[in-house]
Amino acid sequence: MKSLIAVGTLAALAAFSLAAQPQRGQQQGVPPPQGAGAASADPGAGFGPGQLTTFKVRDNFYMIRSGASGNCSVLIADDGVVLIDNKFEMDHDAIMTKLREITDKPILYVIDTHMHGDHSGGNATKQALGAKVIAHENARFQMAKSQTTGLPNLTLEDHMRLYHGEFILDLYWLGRGHTDGDVVVHLPEQSMIFMGDLFATWEPYVTLIDYPGGGSLREWTRTLERAQALPFDVVIPGHGGPTDRAHLETYRVQLVRMQDMVREMNRARKSREEIQKMLETEFGWRGFVTTLGLDGVIGEMR
Ligand SMILES: [Zn+2]
Repeated sequence: MKSLIAVGTLAALAAFSLAAQPQRGQQQGVPPPQGAGAASADPGAGFGPGQLTTFKVRDNFYMIRSGASGNCSVLIADDGVVLIDNKFEMDHDAIMTKLREITDKPILYVIDTHMHGDHSGGNATKQALGAKVIAHENARFQMAKSQTTGLPNLTLEDHMRLYHGEFILDLYWLGRGHTDGDVVVHLPEQSMIFMGDLFATWEPYVTLIDYPGGGSLREWTRTLERAQALPFDVVIPGHGGPTDRAHLETYRVQLVRMQDMVREMNRARKSREEIQKMLETEFGWRGFVTTLGLDGVIGEMR
C-alpha cells in the first residue's frame, strides 16, 4: 500500500504559520506537507504549486492554486463570476491579478466551503468589490465569534441552489467532519463535486479535525458517504488538484482506519501520549492538527 502519511516537520509547520499569519484562533487551515509532491510544476497536480498559478480545468472553469492555502475555483458565466473559496486575505491582490487575466467580469458570489482563513480570508475584500458571500450557517456562526468583517451575506442549512450560466451549483450540508459548517458544492451538469476540506488532499492524505470548530471524526465518514452517493466523476479537493472517486474513497478509508485504531487503543487503555504517537506515525499528525484534534478524537472514539 502506498504511504498515506503526510511527511512534515514542526519546523515546516512553524514556517508555514509565520508565512500564513492566521489572524485568529479559527483561521488555521490545513498545513501543507513538506517534501515531494508539496510543490509541483504542474498546477493541476499535488498539494499545489509554490507560486499562485492559474489552471484551466475546462471551459469557464479555472482554479487559482498555491500550496500555501486552499484552492480558489473560478466559475464564469455571462453576467459574472462565482468563486468557490478565496484563500487568505493577504492573497487578495494576487488573486485579483490572476482573475483579471482570465476575465473582466465582476465577482457575483463567493462560496466559502467552511470558515477557515485559508479558504474564507478574502471575504471582506471581495464584498468591498460588490460580491455576496455564501456559507453554511454554522460556519458564519463560528466566524462571528472572532471577526466582524467578511461575514457571509447568505447562509444555508441543508441545501441551496445557485443558477449561474451553464452551471447549476447545488450546495449541500451533509454533516459534520472537518468542521460543523462544511459545504459540498455539486455541479450535476458537469458531473463534478467540490469537497472543501472534507477531502483536503490526496497523496498525501492530510486530515485535520477541528473540534473547536465543530469537527467530528465519528461523523466525518458518514458525511463522506452521503457525498459519495451523489453522481459525479471529477472531485475537487479543498487543497489538492482535481481527481476522481478513487482518491475520495481512499480518504474515507483512511478516516475509518483512524476511527478503528483510536477506538482499539482506547479499549486497550493506551495513554493519550501513545495515541498521539500513533496519529503522528500513521496519519502524519503534527502541530495544530494535533492540538485541534487529539483530545476530541480520544473522547469521541471511546
Ligand atoms: Zn479547513
